[in-house]
Amino acid sequence: MSKIKIAELFYSIQGEGRYMGVPSVFLRTFGCNFKCAGFGMPRGELSEEAINIDPSKYTDYKMLPLVSTGCDSYASWDPRFKDLSPMLTSDAIADRICEIIPHSEWKDEHLVITGGEPLLGWQRAYPDLLDHPKMQGLKEITFETNGTQKLTPEFASYLHTWKSHHDKDFWREITFSVSAKLPCSGEKWEDAICPEIVVEYEDYGTVYLKFVIATEQDFKDAECAIGAYRAAGFTGHVYLMPVGGVESVYALNNRTVADLAMKNGLRYSDRLQVPLFKNEWGT
Ligand code: SF4
Repeated sequence: MSKIKIAELFYSIQGEGRYMGVPSVFLRTFGCNFKCAGFGMPRGELSEEAINIDPSKYTDYKMLPLVSTGCDSYASWDPRFKDLSPMLTSDAIADRICEIIPHSEWKDEHLVITGGEPLLGWQRAYPDLLDHPKMQGLKEITFETNGTQKLTPEFASYLHTWKSHHDKDFWREITFSVSAKLPCSGEKWEDAICPEIVVEYEDYGTVYLKFVIATEQDFKDAECAIGAYRAAGFTGHVYLMPVGGVESVYALNNRTVADLAMKNGLRYSDRLQVPLFKNEWGT
């Protein structure tokens, strides 16, 4: 039976993107190929907020401090926190999901497989989990990815079986929510903007791009990136989302980003988890 290293598994409301407002199970896998230490920092500077957290003081993921700069899910990939993320079998994950969703079975809930970066090595484990008898009622799945990882031929072929089913009992809607990282993340453009990879996702599900915006320069970078994705053949929707893992930062620029989205005919994504739940762990 396959195992996945799970940083968090919780039930909440999806706060971002296409499924904003939909009750969702979040499966946060451990591991990421980026650090994104530039979020919330002056351009060119990297946050040390998470680096300064002493892992030895925490035995429970939920007790970890929230950060206002850098990646807000730092403990899902920083190896110093890896012991807080257990390796769980598909059985254990499916059992836990049935414990946290209402009625103990899938109804209208949606599954978000997030990270870290969920399309790293865990692609090999998802079929076992998604085919589990307790996951049969699940109809909608989103992979929240940074859009840098190719689908393996095995996983692509597995996803294709869902896309090609016309029997409503076997139908599943697959979405790739691609949060492509602009230079404000601190990651290099050539590593983070991978249009050819993202265009391939469109063969297996609905794909949209989501850019985190804090400044006018971020929007200029997003326009450049959108041009590169379109040139490669990307056809999906594009969302702009305000920066801000904490309310004080989010509230500073949500209206500005909404105005930018309207002015440019792009979609606006909120971060409902910030005003609703203060972006606490498990929300
Ligand atoms: S890609 Fe996402 S999870 Fe990975 S470091 Fe960046 S913000 Fe964090």
